Amino acid sequence: MSEVAPTFDVAVVGGGPAGACLAALLVRGAAAQGRSLGVVLLEPGVGGGAPATEAPQSREMPASRDLPAPQRVVALSRASENILRAAGAWPALEQSRPMPYERMRVWHESGGAHGADALAFDAAEAGQPNLGYIATNAALQEALLEAGRVRGVVRVSAALTALQAAEGVVCLSAGGESLNARLVVGADGARSAVREMAGLGARLAPYGQTAIVATVATQRSHEATAWQRFMADGTLAFLPLVDGTSSIVWSADDELARELLALDPQQFTRRLDRASGLALGETRLLSALAAFPLRRLDARRYVSARLALVGDAAHVVHPLAGQGVNLGLTDAATLAELLLAAVRRREDPGALGVLRAYERWRRSEVALMSASIDAFDRLLSHGTGPLALLARRSMGVVGRSQELRRLFIERALGLTGELPRTARGGAGAVGVS
Ligand SMILES: Cc1cc2nc3c(=O)[nH]c(=O)nc-3n(C[C@H](O)[C@H](O)[C@H](O)COP(=O)(O)OP(=O)(O)OC[C@H]3O[C@@H](n4cnc5c(N)ncnc54)[C@H](O)[C@@H]3O)c2cc1C
Repeated sequence: MSEVAPTFDVAVVGGGPAGACLAALLVRGAAAQGRSLGVVLLEPGVGGGAPATEAPQSREMPASRDLPAPQRVVALSRASENILRAAGAWPALEQSRPMPYERMRVWHESGGAHGADALAFDAAEAGQPNLGYIATNAALQEALLEAGRVRGVVRVSAALTALQAAEGVVCLSAGGESLNARLVVGADGARSAVREMAGLGARLAPYGQTAIVATVATQRSHEATAWQRFMADGTLAFLPLVDGTSSIVWSADDELARELLALDPQQFTRRLDRASGLALGETRLLSALAAFPLRRLDARRYVSARLALVGDAAHVVHPLAGQGVNLGLTDAATLAELLLAAVRRREDPGALGVLRAYERWRRSEVALMSASIDAFDRLLSHGTGPLALLARRSMGVVGRSQELRRLFIERALGLTGELPRTARGGAGAVGVS
């Protein structure tokens, strides 16, 4: 490693939503304290058009090869909106016209979308203008990268190739460049090189399902509603888009997914219409299908000496609750809050005590979320016993209880659990002071 390698306070590896958000929050938060923090972001996809997010997992399937690739979108919670505002990324994201969704409708195939046991939540009943926004992955990543760039985040457009601990710093190599950092944050996704190089390890459990993503036109209006149907062989979600179309995420058992991916567009939409119970009327495929094999991942450790993991590098959850990005942004906000507090106390941002506090805080929150998502999948999708029946009936019970409805809405807004200050929003959150 060269002796003239520059030394940064923090090196963030990976410029997806979690990494780009952390970098932006750190430089903005430090500026609000009247300090400057040297932050470098390593992202091979920067400036290269489409973001690299999850690209290794996606496959375009022959069934729809003449159609354009689907737009990848994410549902952002209110907590995420608050974090994006604090990171300075919200104005640019708003320019991309994310779709505010006002309602959520969840039902099991044993009843109808409008049946007595269907769950329906309206933002208005919680005094909220909406439950969140559907944004494109590309707009989200671009807004966050730009928010960091204007506040001085240094970018290296290369992938990390080596990592080595040294006296008081970590030495990194990327694209022929060398640099040192007092803290390295792995935000490099589910196949994290940082996690592997640091030997943090991970438990990996395939769900035996594949998520099929596509853009569709629907006969009836989506009514600014996120629709989700639970079936014996998977879950099907329709996320509303601003141009009146919908983005579907069909998490199907692997065998069914293989069958669906081999169909032509007409055959596929017929199967889709059957699976949706025609909740939005007949559909028409507007994009190719993209497929993502689903697996749960839990890093054994989130931190070690001068090193921390955020986002999918630390944990991957089932997409049925649309929480992956939301968890990653909350990781970023939590770590930023703790690091900026350490900087304010003139402590070393790479000190293990600070990192352990982050690990304790986030690991328990993520475990809770991950377990409840998996329980939903097991009981409502795949369950057949008395407990599963009870779970289905409980949807009706929840729907009829004011108290439980409020809890569910708060959960959808991402405003439950132990949150960093930026996620709660309001005065004082911006700048992470
Ligand atoms: C079908 C599907 C639907 C989903 N829907 C939702 C949803 O509605 N809402 C939601 O919140 N979440 C959703 N998710 C989850 C969400 O997409 C992920 O949780 C999220 O993208 C993770 O963000 P991240 O920044 O941690 O990682 P990533 O988005 O994977 O970004 C990692 C970045 O690291 C870079 N990188 C990789 N290796 C290196 C290296 N060696 N050096 C430097 N950089 C590197 C990559 O180029 C990439 O830009 C969905 C997931 C799937 C599969």
